[in-house]
Amino acid sequence: MTSPKIPTATLGVPRIGPHRELKTALESFWSGKTAEAQLQDSAKALRAAAWKDQQARGITKIPSNTFSLYDHVLDTAVMVGAIPETYAWTGGGTVPLDTYFAMARGTQGTARSGCGHSHEEGNGLPALEMTKWFDTNYHYMVPEFSGEQSFSLASLKPVEEFLEAKALGIHTRPVILGPVTFLKLGKPHRVYTDTLSLLPKLLPVYAELLSRLKSAGADWVQIDEPALALDLSPLEKAAFRTAYAELAKAAPGLQMMLASYFGGLGDNLETALSLPVAGLHLDLVRAPEQLRDVVTKARKDLVLSVGVIDGRNVWRADLKAICDRLTGDLGDWPRAQIELAPSCSLLHVPVDLDLETALDPEVKPWLAFAAQKMDELVALADALSGGSRFSEKLVAQSSAAIAARKASTKVHDTNVAERLRGVTPWMAARANSFADRQKAQHKRFDLPLFPTTTIGSFPQTADVRKARAALAKGEMTKEAYEAFLRQQTADAVRWQEEIGLDVLVHGEFERNDMVQYFGEQLAGFAFTHNGWVQSYGSRCVRPPIIYGDVSRPHPMTVSTWAYAQSLTAKPMKGMLTGPVTILNWSFVRDDIPRADVCRQIALAIRDEVGDLEKAGAAMIQIDEAALREGLPLRRSDWKVYLDWAVECFRLASSPVTDQTQIHTHMCYSEFNDIFEAITAMDADVISIETSRSRMELLDVFEDNSYPNEIGPGVYDIHSPRVPDVAQIVELVKLAQQHLSDSQIWINPDCGLKTRRWEEVRPALVNMVAAARQLRQSPVRRRA
Ligand code: GLN
Ligand code: ZN
Repeated sequence: MTSPKIPTATLGVPRIGPHRELKTALESFWSGKTAEAQLQDSAKALRAAAWKDQQARGITKIPSNTFSLYDHVLDTAVMVGAIPETYAWTGGGTVPLDTYFAMARGTQGTARSGCGHSHEEGNGLPALEMTKWFDTNYHYMVPEFSGEQSFSLASLKPVEEFLEAKALGIHTRPVILGPVTFLKLGKPHRVYTDTLSLLPKLLPVYAELLSRLKSAGADWVQIDEPALALDLSPLEKAAFRTAYAELAKAAPGLQMMLASYFGGLGDNLETALSLPVAGLHLDLVRAPEQLRDVVTKARKDLVLSVGVIDGRNVWRADLKAICDRLTGDLGDWPRAQIELAPSCSLLHVPVDLDLETALDPEVKPWLAFAAQKMDELVALADALSGGSRFSEKLVAQSSAAIAARKASTKVHDTNVAERLRGVTPWMAARANSFADRQKAQHKRFDLPLFPTTTIGSFPQTADVRKARAALAKGEMTKEAYEAFLRQQTADAVRWQEEIGLDVLVHGEFERNDMVQYFGEQLAGFAFTHNGWVQSYGSRCVRPPIIYGDVSRPHPMTVSTWAYAQSLTAKPMKGMLTGPVTILNWSFVRDDIPRADVCRQIALAIRDEVGDLEKAGAAMIQIDEAALREGLPLRRSDWKVYLDWAVECFRLASSPVTDQTQIHTHMCYSEFNDIFEAITAMDADVISIETSRSRMELLDVFEDNSYPNEIGPGVYDIHSPRVPDVAQIVELVKLAQQHLSDSQIWINPDCGLKTRRWEEVRPALVNMVAAARQLRQSPVRRRA
C-alpha cells in the first residue's frame, strides 16, 4: 500500500558547479577577460543546471535564490540597501555589480591570505570584513550598519531567480536569510548600538519582498534563521516574535518555512514554536533528540521539515536506521505534514561523488556528496510512503555500505585502538614545570633578549607552484623536484642567516597546504580530486576525508628538517600542524567521537615530535591555527571541546625533554574566551596575531599573568605594506606594557606564504633591526 510521496527539499545546493565553473567565470570577469554579460550568462547556466538536476533526481521542494555570485549574506545586505557610504551607492536604482564586488573584495581585486581571512589594504576601497558562517568553513561578508542606517528594497534577486526558474517550468521555493539572523551577523560601524535595534526599520523591506514574491507566484518561502541554534538573549528571542508577527501579515497566503540548522533549538524551542509560520525545519543530525519534543509541543497544523541527511559531512546515510528512528519519533504526526531534508543546505558538501574516479574503491561507496544526498532523500521519501523497488534497492545498498564500513580493516586498526587505550594522563603533560624547562632552554640556546623568528612559510612563488604542478603531471621527476625544494630551502636559510634572524625555519616550500601535507602521509585519510567546497567567493577548498583510524606509517618532516638544520648552526624549528587543526579542517568520520579521532591524530603527531627530537631538533612548532574556530556554537558545550582539544595538543607536544622547546602558533588574537585553555596548552612559546589590534588584545595575557613566552605578531602579513623599524619598535613597546621583556619574541603575525619576496625581505630586515634597537633599552623584567 503506498500513500502519496512525502515531499523532499534540499534547502540549498552547491553554487560552484561540478567543475568549479563559478570560479572560472568570476576570475575571468575580475581579470577583465570577460564582460559582465558573460558572467551573468554563466551564472544563469549554473542555476538552471542545478534546478534541473534537482528536478531530475526527484526533489520536490526545489529552492531558488540559493545561488550567489559571491555570498548570500552580502546578497542580503545589498538587497536591503545596507551599503556602507564608502561604496558611494546613491540609493537609486539597482546596485551595480561593481559596487557588489567592491564590497566583496575591495577595489583592487586583492587576494586574501590563507588564514585570518583579512583584507589587503591599498589605495582603493577596502572590502567588508569576512568571517566564518557559524561553525562551518564557509565565510560570509559581515554587513555593516551605520548610525543612521536606513533600508530599502534595492534588489529583487529572490523574485528574479524565482521567475527565472518558473520560465524553465520549475516552481521553486525561494530562500531568504531571515531578518533576525541577518542583523545578528552584522556589526555597527563607528557607532555603539545593538544591530537588532534596526529590526523595525528592516521589517518593512522584508514585508515588501514577501509580497513581491507572492505576486510573482510563490506559495512558499524558506526563511533561514540559523541564529536559532545559538544562545539567544531574551531580547533576541523577543525580536523573533516581533519579526515573524510582522512578516506573517505581509503576504497572507504565502507560507513560511522557518529553517533552523547547525544545531538543536534547545532553549529557543518555545520561541520557535510560538512563531506564526507554516513550517519549521529541524536539524536532526546535530540534534536528533529534539524531534520527539517538537512533535509533542508543536501546533498540529505545522509542517515539519525533518533534516535527517547530514548536510555537513560526506558519509552515506544509514537509510534503514533513519526510517526506523523517524517512524518511532514521529508517532502519529500526520505524514502529510512532513518534508524530508538535509540537516542544512547542501552548500557545505562537495557536488558529486560520481566525479571521483581515483578514490579507493573500498572507501567510495561509504560516501555521499550533494548529488548522492538528494538520491538518499528521494529514496527515504519513497520508503516512508510504503516503498518501491527503487527505494528497496537504495536502502539495501545503504545497509550494505554501512556494514562494510563497520567491518573494514581500513577503518579499524587494532594497533591504534590499543595505543589509544594505553594513553595515560602523564603522557599529556611535560615532565617538568615551565619554570624548570625555561631554565634548561635558556641555557641551551643562549638567545638574545627579544629573539627573532618567523612563523614557518616563506613565499610560495610561481616557481614553487610550477614545480609542484610539474611533479603532479609527471613532467618533473621526484628527484628533480626534491633537489628544487632543497635549493629553495638552502637559499632561504642562507638569507635568514644573512639578515640575522635568531631562530630559523626551512620555509615550507614542500607544502601545498598545512593540513593536506600531513593528511597525505597519514593512514586513515582520503583525498578527492574534485571534492571542492566553497570557502568564500571564488575560493574553494578540498578538505581531506578522515575515514579510518589514524596512524603515522613513517616520519613526515624529519628529513626536510635535518637537511635545513645541516645548513646552519642556528636553531632550526621543526614545523608541524597540530591535531586539532588537522581535525577541524577535514571531513571527520562519524562512527566514533571527534575527540577520539583527534587523539589518534595527536598520537601520530606525537610520534613525529619524538622523531624530530631524536634527530636533533631543539625547537618544534606545532601550529594550531584552527583551534579556536572549532568552538561549539553553544557556550555550554565549550568546556568539553576545549578540554579534549587542549589534551590533544599536550599529547602531541609532551614526549620531549625539558630542553626541547615547544612552540605553537595561532592566527588570531581573541583569547579572552579561551585564555585558560591557551595557558593549559603549556607551549613554551606561543606566537599570535596582535598587530592589527595594536597589541590591545594582550590585556588578557597581562591580567592573567600568562607565564610562558609569547611572540605577539609585530606586523600584519595580510597587508603588502612593509612595516618600518619605528613602527615595529612602537608596537613592541606597546607589548612591553603587558608582558615582561624576558617573555617577548619578535615575529610576524602569521606565515609568509601568501606574500612576495619583495615584501618579505625588507619587512624582516626591519624586524631584525627593530629587535636590535629594543635590546639597547630593555624596560622591565618580570620578577
Ligand atoms: N606554519 C604555517 C605557515 O607559516 C602557519 C600557517 C597558519 O598559521 N595558517 O604558513
Ligand atoms: Zn597564522
